[in-house]
Amino acid sequence: MKTRRTKLALIGTGMVGAAFAYALTLKRLVNELVLVDLDQARAEGEAMDLRHGLPLIGPMEITAGGYEECAGADIVVITAGANQKPGQTRLDLLKINVKIVNDIAEKILKLGGEPIIIVASNPVDVLTLDLLKKTGLPSNKIIGSGTVLDSSRFRQMLAEKLDVDVRSVHAHIIGEHGDSELAVWSQANVSCVPLERFFAQRKVPFTPGIREDILNKVRRAAYEVIDRKGATSNAIGVALCRIVEAIIKDEKSVLTVSTSVQGLHDLPDVCLAMPCVIGENGVEAVLETLLDREEFRTLHESANVLLSHARDLGLVD
Ligand code: NAD
Repeated sequence: MKTRRTKLALIGTGMVGAAFAYALTLKRLVNELVLVDLDQARAEGEAMDLRHGLPLIGPMEITAGGYEECAGADIVVITAGANQKPGQTRLDLLKINVKIVNDIAEKILKLGGEPIIIVASNPVDVLTLDLLKKTGLPSNKIIGSGTVLDSSRFRQMLAEKLDVDVRSVHAHIIGEHGDSELAVWSQANVSCVPLERFFAQRKVPFTPGIREDILNKVRRAAYEVIDRKGATSNAIGVALCRIVEAIIKDEKSVLTVSTSVQGLHDLPDVCLAMPCVIGENGVEAVLETLLDREEFRTLHESANVLLSHARDLGLVD
């Protein structure tokens, strides 16, 4: 049986783009990968470096090119743009990156086709909303990487504290991918055992102070990595790869991507991270998570941070 060929275009081959391309190649999730960067030599170098490993991985077509070479892509991943410098917040990047991402989307749409666009450039939630409003594409087709990375960091920290396999830890970070994000403590569990009870079984204290400390570590994780190595790349590369895998394999996996949440939980017209079913059509459902009163309040605070930036950009009234 002959299966359909799949093609992915990656725009931006800096630290994040290169880590994603490497993860994607190791998993051979697509037949064809096209790398595009303003710095053409950089894209060419990455493509060559990846191709040199293919005899040890398996066949794939990996090239560097311009936008014409992206025609027919099933998925476009955007990791182009300025990154956070030490001390900068993701929202500081807004003005620079909104121009870059708009310009890229325009060039992609000119090619025709109906690719799913995944954006990781920051501030990712505002850029996701901006793309949604300006491209006119249906909301299932524009996906922000959201808090897939932050949820992964959260689960990893809980697993380390509880000495349990991270795959058994079910816990989510939602809201802005940034300083106002929140943990859904009320629903977090270790394979059906509520988190509070599991902490007690393990004789690990679970005080409000400890919960705050864990959440702060999740929120501060990017700053800590950037202070040490200048950028975050490996874990976001894997997170992007996980979103692509769920689409390519039509997995219907639940991932906390950034998407339009208007009307859900009485939220305003913004994009932010909520657990979503991800399959071949992109965002196939946004799940209305059960939240306690405090989580509901902090989710709205997070949405309001994003709303004020959306207003500054003239995206919403
Ligand atoms: P980087 O500086 O290493 O790479 C950015 C690349 O984008 C460069 O190669 C640059 O030449 C390219 N570029 C710039 N403008 C372009 C354009 N118009 N067209 C094509 N290419 C262009 O930065 P990085 O560390 O890879 O970070 C990239 C983005 O990803 C940043 O905005 C960063 O904040 C974001 N990021 C997001 C997450 C997340 O969880 N969503 C995590 C880490 C980083």
